[in-house]
Amino acid sequence: MIEARVDFTAMIGHTPLVRLRRASEATGCEIFGKAEWLNPGGSIKDRTALGLLSDAEARGLIRRGGTIVEGTAGNTGIGLALLGASRGYPSIIVMPNSQSAEKVEALRLTGAEVRLVPPAKFADPAHYVHFAQALAEEANARDPGSAWFANQFDNTANRDFHAATTAVEIWDQTGGAVDGFVCSAGTGGTLAGVAVELKARKPGVRIALADPTGSALANFVNHGELLAEGNSITEGIGSSRVTANLQDAKVDVAYSIPDTESVPLLHQLLAIEGMGLGGSSGVNIAGAIRLAQELGPGHVVVTVLADAGARYAKKLFNPAFLHAKEIPVPEWLERAFAP
Ligand code: PMP
Repeated sequence: MIEARVDFTAMIGHTPLVRLRRASEATGCEIFGKAEWLNPGGSIKDRTALGLLSDAEARGLIRRGGTIVEGTAGNTGIGLALLGASRGYPSIIVMPNSQSAEKVEALRLTGAEVRLVPPAKFADPAHYVHFAQALAEEANARDPGSAWFANQFDNTANRDFHAATTAVEIWDQTGGAVDGFVCSAGTGGTLAGVAVELKARKPGVRIALADPTGSALANFVNHGELLAEGNSITEGIGSSRVTANLQDAKVDVAYSIPDTESVPLLHQLLAIEGMGLGGSSGVNIAGAIRLAQELGPGHVVVTVLADAGARYAKKLFNPAFLHAKEIPVPEWLERAFAP
């Protein structure tokens, strides 16, 4: 008997739920993280890639051997490029040059054609998402049907896939005992998809957005107006607009999380629980602690551990960088880099 997953696709999802010990003990709740960094491309965005591509294939939007084109902070591009490779589609991935060097390198190692562009506001045609869409349109003008623009932000196949997989797994893994779910939003696919499915199964479940400072979404959820203050070193999360995936999302409350709150949680998690995670996971854990405090002891709270810290090592685990950002550095981390 050979026990094996058949291919890349079959490696996506079905991630374990891991108890976050310190966060649970600190709040008297049971706080769990969905270990999404264990996906084959290293992040939760492998799910998004699979959801978008499967939908495009089913609807005949991508032809055999056609080119995948996407704009991404990195992880969706990595997922799409690897999944594409496994199914015979080449990829062209557009990414702002403000993202971590490690993510750019991981993306290059997929074999995708990588186009780095300067950061721009969403209203600017030079914004990486519009840049990607224009590339796909140019390719299709030359050779109709040759390119498919995945459009993760406004293609709701993204949130539908999280409803069908991420949410259902959380439900099954907690035996329906989940009282609250919280995560950050980039496209909003994870948050909106999990929210709609969990609320359908348990209307009283509390859904929260954990938003990095500098994003306009927390104020939108709490007060109905897109308004941003401050900034953040986190990547792939936060937004200045309500994407199609976030439209009418069933979110009860939002927490605005500064880096000085989220990054120390990442250092602590690595030092005492052995998990090295990326910036959005720190924001998510901070959000889970706030949601647990709001619900009170005895509740079950779930969040997402979206990708690994190695993807941001030169920022999140670099004392010099952290000092410059006035983020506290634990002694063990100072020592690790002492001359
Ligand atoms: N965390 C990480 C590390 C990500 O790359 C992303 C997506 N850019 C998110 C969180 C946000 O997920 P979503 O797009 O589903 O809102």
